[in-house]
Amino acid sequence: MQVVDTIAALRSARQGVRGSVGLVPTMGALHAGHIALVEVARQQNETVLATIFVNPKQFGPSEDLAAYPRTLERDLKMLEDAGVDVVFTPTTDLMYPAGYQTYIEVEEVAKGLEGAHRPGHFRGVATVVAKLFNLSQADRAYFGQKDAQQVAVIRQMARDLNFPGEIVVCPTIREADGLALSSRNVYLNPEQRGAAGVLYRALRAAAERYAHGEREPQRLRAIMEQTLKAVPIAQTEYVAVSDPRTMREIETRTDSPLLLSMAVKIGPARLIDNMLLPAHLNTLEHLSHVLGVAEFTDF
Ligand code: AMP
Repeated sequence: MQVVDTIAALRSARQGVRGSVGLVPTMGALHAGHIALVEVARQQNETVLATIFVNPKQFGPSEDLAAYPRTLERDLKMLEDAGVDVVFTPTTDLMYPAGYQTYIEVEEVAKGLEGAHRPGHFRGVATVVAKLFNLSQADRAYFGQKDAQQVAVIRQMARDLNFPGEIVVCPTIREADGLALSSRNVYLNPEQRGAAGVLYRALRAAAERYAHGEREPQRLRAIMEQTLKAVPIAQTEYVAVSDPRTMREIETRTDSPLLLSMAVKIGPARLIDNMLLPAHLNTLEHLSHVLGVAEFTDF
């Protein structure tokens, strides 16, 4: 595995590659969710390029940039064991040198949900991902369903700015109690960790009612809210039922696919989770068609 930390070294590693390249962007502090992306990328490409960069531009001023876990040595070992070919580990100065002044602003799809609660977040995400797309010249890029709106924002950016390639969305990897793996889970103490399974329970409760025919978005939302309320240390920031392509909240009953999503604060951690309905859409086979895109020319 080649570890590169300059633009020149990355470009030369890219030029040395034959066949298709799969890009897996991460902020490090890796877990089995990240490795699952690498595994899908390996199956679909000759070469896998992972990146580790804690992107300051996607953190708000009161967010956890300084506290964000950094475990580079361990991350590199995990990527090597997973069969990654090249890892790009830029510094902040390399990505945003003095005088940096270009940003990407995706509009409608970035407005609600996470966008409403984390002003500037998706501007930072879109900007860094555009840079990584340009630097890597990848044929496919791999993202997790856990950050469903992030994928929708990236898909919109790729479409609007004519980025080539495919965006592949991989299912959320969970702990035994359903908690979505996240680098931020290390912020939880044992009591908080015990409570954190409630996000998935809330999604499952709504999914169960959906499976029995419930289609009223207000009712699905209410079921999630009630489940979350039963755990007092879980502070709900939002609970939403949205259109998975536009990310707009849905107010009237529909048989079209739905995205259930939520952000919940438990102690110092702000946790997010989501689920597509009908439930069979939460699979590698379907996710890219609903949230990602197989071919931009089809759009
Ligand atoms: P992050 O390092 O948190 O920026 O995440 C890097 C990529 O891994 C993003 O595409 C995330 O959506 C994805 N990811 C994070 N957690 C999970 C998970 N539990 N399952 C699947 N993918 C994940």
